[in-house]
Amino acid sequence: MAAVKKAFQVRLPPLPSIKDVIKLYKLRALRELSQNFLMEPRLLDKIVRAAGHIENHVVCEVGPGPGGITRSIVKQGPRKLILIEKDPRFTPSLELLADACKDVVDVDIITGDILKTDIAHFIPQDVKCEWTDPPPPVNLIGNLPFSVSTILIIRWLELISKKEGPWAFGRTRMTLTFQKEVAERMAARMTEKQRCRLSVMTQNWCGVNYKFDIPGSAFLPKPEVDVGVVTLTPLKQPIIKLPFKLIEKVVRQIFSMRQKYSIRGAQTLFPEEVREEMALRMYKMAEIDPVTRPFQIANGEFGRLCEAYKEIITKYPEFENYDYRAPKKLKSEGEATTA
Ligand code: SAM
Repeated sequence: MAAVKKAFQVRLPPLPSIKDVIKLYKLRALRELSQNFLMEPRLLDKIVRAAGHIENHVVCEVGPGPGGITRSIVKQGPRKLILIEKDPRFTPSLELLADACKDVVDVDIITGDILKTDIAHFIPQDVKCEWTDPPPPVNLIGNLPFSVSTILIIRWLELISKKEGPWAFGRTRMTLTFQKEVAERMAARMTEKQRCRLSVMTQNWCGVNYKFDIPGSAFLPKPEVDVGVVTLTPLKQPIIKLPFKLIEKVVRQIFSMRQKYSIRGAQTLFPEEVREEMALRMYKMAEIDPVTRPFQIANGEFGRLCEAYKEIITKYPEFENYDYRAPKKLKSEGEATTA
């Protein structure tokens, strides 16, 4: 089956519809792998269009499943397609598609877990750009499984902060789906209801563009929630220019008591005996009002709090490894042993 490459559109030879592929290969959706499939070609094309121009790009798709989004990507004429799918039941249908477009797109099918796969290994070196250049011709696209989406984005933000993995090639863009609530959190600005740790972390390293919603009814089986499509473009300079782990710790603790004054969460960065004094010092240095609630703090203000925390732990290195959650962990381990 030879595919025909036209200007800006690849015409695929006739293939069974995604619905038929699911029937043909008996691909019953597995809840444990968050399998919710999209069938509607116009919707699939809309997701891929949200990624912008991808002709001749290297595209990595996370969780292609039966291949609906994959077909829409192929139609845009990428140079190389890297498919990472954990469920081996989809391999034959993906191979069918790879075979149908083999004359125009080089397809790598990787049966594995996205959390354990080194995507960079499959990206050709010649696409490498400088960080300050426009994004490289590499795109990550995926209708992500709900079960891994938040863990995955936090891992990717850490890789972005270190310019590693797919970000060793430049400011690689992402077009991804999340549960609507998670997508809203990523995009939430100061004072917005959904503002949380994920908002500050995502916006520190990426420009977040909330594209559109997909109703749950568009998926098979229908999930209990709607879905939001988001594009993320790494920033040339992060807002807070400090190590990922330090920022994550400060932001996490400040949001740990969401409805209280933010200083209450910040106190948990320090051991009990110095907690109040050190948190107050941190807020004074950062010039932030201690009675501000976490969701009322802007990204730049979080930056000042992180800088102040860094200054304090440089002066008092004994606080650096203090982990508020550790005693609880030890306690529950103890409980488990005695039970
Ligand atoms: N792309 C298809 C679509 O839009 O119809 C399927 C999307 S479905 C929401 C998520 C897909 O991710 C499933 O095919 C599932 O098997 C796969 N998946 C789940 N966990 C994964 C993991 N850890 N690594 C790679 N793929 C995973």
